[in-house]
Amino acid sequence: MGTFAGKLLRVDLSGSKSTVEEIPGLLFRDFISARGLGSEYLYRELKAGTDPLSPENRLILSIGVLGGTGLQGFSKWAVTTKSPLTGTIFRAITGGNFGVWMKHAGYDLIIIQGKAEQPSYVHIDGEGVHFLDARDLMGLDYRRVQIKLKDRHGPHTESACIGPAGEKLVRYAVISSGERTASRGGVGTVMGSKGLKAISINVATRKPAPHDPARFANLLKRQIDILKQHPRKKNMSTFGTPYITTVVDSLGILPVKNFQEGRIETIREITGKDFFELKRAKAGCHVCMTRCGGMRDVTLGPFSGSRIDGPEYETIYAFGPLLGITDKQFVIDANALCDYYGLDTISAGVCVAYACELFEKGLVSPSDANGLDLRWGNQEALFSLIEMIGKREGFGEVLGEGVKRAAESLGGDAGLYGMHIKGLEMPGYDPRGVKGYGLSMATSNMGGTHMYGRPREELSGKTDPYTEEGKGEAIARVQKEQALEDSLIACTFGNTGLDLQFYSEALVAATGIGAFGSPEALLEIGERIICLERCFNIRDGFSRKDDSLPGRMVSEPLRNAGPATGQVIHHLDRLLDEYYEALGYTKDGMPTDEKLRELRIDRHKGA
Ligand code: SF4
Repeated sequence: MGTFAGKLLRVDLSGSKSTVEEIPGLLFRDFISARGLGSEYLYRELKAGTDPLSPENRLILSIGVLGGTGLQGFSKWAVTTKSPLTGTIFRAITGGNFGVWMKHAGYDLIIIQGKAEQPSYVHIDGEGVHFLDARDLMGLDYRRVQIKLKDRHGPHTESACIGPAGEKLVRYAVISSGERTASRGGVGTVMGSKGLKAISINVATRKPAPHDPARFANLLKRQIDILKQHPRKKNMSTFGTPYITTVVDSLGILPVKNFQEGRIETIREITGKDFFELKRAKAGCHVCMTRCGGMRDVTLGPFSGSRIDGPEYETIYAFGPLLGITDKQFVIDANALCDYYGLDTISAGVCVAYACELFEKGLVSPSDANGLDLRWGNQEALFSLIEMIGKREGFGEVLGEGVKRAAESLGGDAGLYGMHIKGLEMPGYDPRGVKGYGLSMATSNMGGTHMYGRPREELSGKTDPYTEEGKGEAIARVQKEQALEDSLIACTFGNTGLDLQFYSEALVAATGIGAFGSPEALLEIGERIICLERCFNIRDGFSRKDDSLPGRMVSEPLRNAGPATGQVIHHLDRLLDEYYEALGYTKDGMPTDEKLRELRIDRHKGA
């Protein structure tokens, strides 16, 4: 099996039972690992209509086949589940050490199901799987939980846990490990719904051994040579993702004040260089030379006086321009507050921006907002609102349900200003100024994420970002590539200079599976994964009508956006037609029987 562990651990919290199962070799051939395998198991095991917060939902933790091998930037891990925000299939990816610990414990996947009778955590060591009382961990933030688990089970222990927001079922709670988070889609909410505070590992029985060690060592050397010389690697190591902020602003697609505008005048206060100057130490994931993270001082809230790894670009967007703010320290402190409660910073920022716009338009009054003055840029009030979301108190209870459900409960015109796709709050790129990216977000089987297929050519200006025609095929391709990379897992920021040919050679050397032997074969695996994920959603009633964008994107020309001023999505229908055609789907966005046969997908699984 080479670098596959070949086994999954099934943890049933309802009966405090665990079993180890073989993973059939054919599944590796068809789905590789991580996102691919996670999606396949979720599709097999869930029935249509499963409530994401019910014991029947699965929380699938997975590591890529190249994780822990020494390849740089391949040791992240993934969580696959049915999202309580979107009701769709979902995967969130994160760093830290936990994934490699899982591999060393002998598992490619851990499938968690059922619900514990009382707050619990699961610990895996050389003697097996232990179901333990977590009542003394309840209410604690991720740092205190991880420290307690190391004290209890040994300093080599690595864990993944939820914070107070996950316990209280805020719909966009995260799973934390080390200083990193599996952020999006409410994966921490699903963990909270199962009564599971943490899962920890302290055992190393198996190190992944490549099928062809000499060839694999050559590839590793080649990757390190590429990284040493590549300017992008240097940029990411120095500045990390904050350098993206000015690029996005110059394109006029930096969402400002809840997507009302596309540039902010005071951008010079939040450049990559500004955040670099506040960086106190480097940070990063297991086995990664790029180390794109950075530790920065926190001055406000429960983590005041300590440092956090952050902020990333998406957090700068969400607690900066989106709220009409360009105060670096506010962004860092708001990031730390979300980390403390265990909240997704993108969803939290979009919910707060939504509240500000409703306040501005008189659709939310000061008394609705528990006396908070939610004017744009009112940092003190906005900080308090984040805290209320984390505690699920007052107006925070409404916003903790996410923008889509908040709009439904507020009623009236409130729905006009909710910036979400399929219920997932939108990331920091305005689709009106990058229309292919807009198509990618609209058709994403996980809702409004920037990580479902990133059209680099459009973002770098190699293709016209404002043209709508001819985008379908390009987006179909980047979505296949992303599905493939998420199944290895190749970090988007750490895989600098690598291409499909490199992945193919690395997979064959690592596993000995000849079916991975060409870029075309890998793209077909990527296509199979997005098609399977679409089938999962179709089984739950999703169709073309759900491949949409917020009304603002198709009706309000972008304002104050430099080169993108006046842009709007004119013909989403035409974009969808092209995209479906490129993937062999019907006009309703359904894969045809022929396509399903070609990709070896059985659409009746779990129905
Ligand atoms: S580039 Fe950054 S996010 Fe990616 S693996 Fe390295 S440290 Fe982690």
